[in-house]
Amino acid sequence: MIIGTHMSIAGGLEKTAKAVVKMEANTMQIFSRNPRGSNFKEPTEKEAEAFQRIRKENGWGPLLAHAPYTMNPASDQEKIYDFACMVLREDIARMDRLGIENMVFHPGSHTGIGVEAGIKNIVAALNQAITGKEQITVLLETMSGKGTEIGYEFEQLREIRDRVDHPEGLGVCLDTCHIFSAGYDIVNDLDGVVARFDEVIGLEHLKAIHFNDSLTPFGAKKDRHATIGNGEIGMEALLRVLTHPALKDLPFYLETPLEDAGHKEEIRMLREKVEGSRE
Ligand code: FE
Ligand code: FE
Ligand code: ZN
Repeated sequence: MIIGTHMSIAGGLEKTAKAVVKMEANTMQIFSRNPRGSNFKEPTEKEAEAFQRIRKENGWGPLLAHAPYTMNPASDQEKIYDFACMVLREDIARMDRLGIENMVFHPGSHTGIGVEAGIKNIVAALNQAITGKEQITVLLETMSGKGTEIGYEFEQLREIRDRVDHPEGLGVCLDTCHIFSAGYDIVNDLDGVVARFDEVIGLEHLKAIHFNDSLTPFGAKKDRHATIGNGEIGMEALLRVLTHPALKDLPFYLETPLEDAGHKEEIRMLREKVEGSRE
């Protein structure tokens, strides 16, 4: 079982890696730069090396970087779109150099121009950022569909993937809170949802799971994360996701509203439940 949580790297990469070990996690998600702004403190070579050593020694699974939320590559406003293009270009390259396996981003919101026009912008933004020579895989996140968000239907993600120049460099990160909120019934029909994903996108393109419960009910098209077992999805359904034959070997990233100590507990509780259910 590969499981970790979102970590702040404000104290440096090495310190963060040590905190992950302490948490008994074996992967992590980090922001590719400041989530709201534009800055990134380049890690020193020494720090990057220490970080790589720690992850190797502890046998971690794939790592995930998350692009800033403020970026919107679906936008038709020049300044907003250009910023998104710059961030995608720079952060994909930088996370690739760091040896991070995957980088996820929110496809964006069309803010009135329509899904089709939004997708066209997203595809162009990806084409100027992915060269085809990267080791890193860029992941589209499944969204809840709040506001004018794009990516709440598997078909929209497939369309983006179908239209980019380097589809081999593009995968998907499935967020359990978001798809439940978007109207995919992972509580009563997980097998059906997994089959649908396979049919529309292909399970081979699913690279990561954002593992969250949902504060808002099924199909609400909201995006409010809850801690595992304390939301509308519930413990039993989330354990079925964690142990599903088609999903269980993927890396799981908690984005639940907890501090490090709480995440350590959440990870321990999940490991206990999964190991218990295997007997
Ligand atoms: Fe996200
Ligand atoms: Fe997420
Ligand atoms: Zn979310």
